[in-house]
Amino acid sequence: MQRVVIIGGGQAGAHGAMHLRARGFMGEIHLVHAEPGLPYQRPPLSKTFILDESPPESLDFRPAGFYEKERITLHPTKAVAIDRARGEVQLGDGTGLAYDALILALGAAPRPLPGAPSSLLMLRTREDALRLRPRIAASREVLIVGGGFIGCELAAALAGAGRKVRLIEAQDEVMQGRVSPLTARLLREALEAEGVEVLRAARIAAWDEDGLGVRLADGRALRADLLLAATGVAPETALAAEAGLAVSPSGIEAGADFRILDPAIFAVGDCVFAHNLFAGGPVRLESVQHATDSARHVAELLLGASAPYRKVPWFWSDQGKRRLQIAGLIAGCDAFRIEGDPGAMSFSVYGYRGEELRCVESVNRPADHIRARKALTEALDAAS
Ligand SMILES: Cc1cc2nc3c(=O)[nH]c(=O)nc-3n(C[C@H](O)[C@H](O)[C@H](O)COP(=O)(O)OP(=O)(O)OC[C@H]3O[C@@H](n4cnc5c(N)ncnc54)[C@H](O)[C@@H]3O)c2cc1C
Repeated sequence: MQRVVIIGGGQAGAHGAMHLRARGFMGEIHLVHAEPGLPYQRPPLSKTFILDESPPESLDFRPAGFYEKERITLHPTKAVAIDRARGEVQLGDGTGLAYDALILALGAAPRPLPGAPSSLLMLRTREDALRLRPRIAASREVLIVGGGFIGCELAAALAGAGRKVRLIEAQDEVMQGRVSPLTARLLREALEAEGVEVLRAARIAAWDEDGLGVRLADGRALRADLLLAATGVAPETALAAEAGLAVSPSGIEAGADFRILDPAIFAVGDCVFAHNLFAGGPVRLESVQHATDSARHVAELLLGASAPYRKVPWFWSDQGKRRLQIAGLIAGCDAFRIEGDPGAMSFSVYGYRGEELRCVESVNRPADHIRARKALTEALDAAS
């Protein structure tokens, strides 16, 4: 194996490259990184970075100089096509980059919202956050559309910074389907106690042209001096589809080892819809853990390892003073048990499928989370 090309310098791409080198890969590593600056982490964007004055480089995984020292060649451009017959990636700067192995770490992008104005503000990249900072600084009232993890994080952060926040959620509850009904309710009530007005089952019928207001299906008109959409992302699949690889709206289709139809190509991170041992079927996971672990797994395969991927998914979301940590997956859980003190915002919700523990959601209970990860990992190892 002479040359590994990784498309996408996000969480997965950068960690795949770093892992390959750290584990002794001697060949060339090329990282095609389309965003400005060096590869960086996204989680602080919705928690602290939009509000503070920290420089953009504070989010970088590694300082300038690291990539040169580790002989990881950064290509600051987009990959525009994959020529599988020639084993070459065509770059936006007009050059071609031959590969022996290709890793697609393309991530995901905010899902387009039908009828929304093009000026609508969303948060996925560091550039988005830098654009948002002065708008937030100048705002007093904020409308957030979408009560998923990022919408709830933004609501908590902005309310904590003194903004009047209204959170519009189309479903009956925030984070629906992502956490247990109990955890969702408790975290929503905590937001409300901090002054966030949460409008549930609130469907948007029309968007104001200027991107600062909406009309709900029940006729209510809502406006603010800042409106942010946090309505979820769709996996980046176009490049793979154009190269004739199997894709669906769920992502680039891959087997348990992130291998796709073409034996020289792998897909990792937010863009992949892969069979997952813990889930017992194909899933697309959006988390730092999955991006990092899937990329490291592929790096290990390229170095000759053959052990199957058997990681228990885990995730965290900081919502103001509340740190939610999730071990396992909520899908399929039919019974829940709570431990701790919800009134003091320190509790864990244990989710079961039948008798089997499948998911533990801990709020400000890091020790429970660590124990849960260990228990779920041991159970997975014992079962497979
Ligand atoms: C605001 C925010 C907060 C988050 N908070 C948390 C959190 O608290 N906890 C958690 O676990 N997860 C969190 N996440 C999710 C986590 O950041 C993602 O799951 C993770 O970044 C996925 O890594 P990735 O490498 O697959 O994709 P990304 O990090 O999205 O990286 C993909 C990269 O590929 C590039 N790319 C795409 N197409 C091309 C192309 N053709 N050529 C070149 N480059 C290309 C993109 O520009 C991007 O830089 C958060 C995400 C966001 C946006």
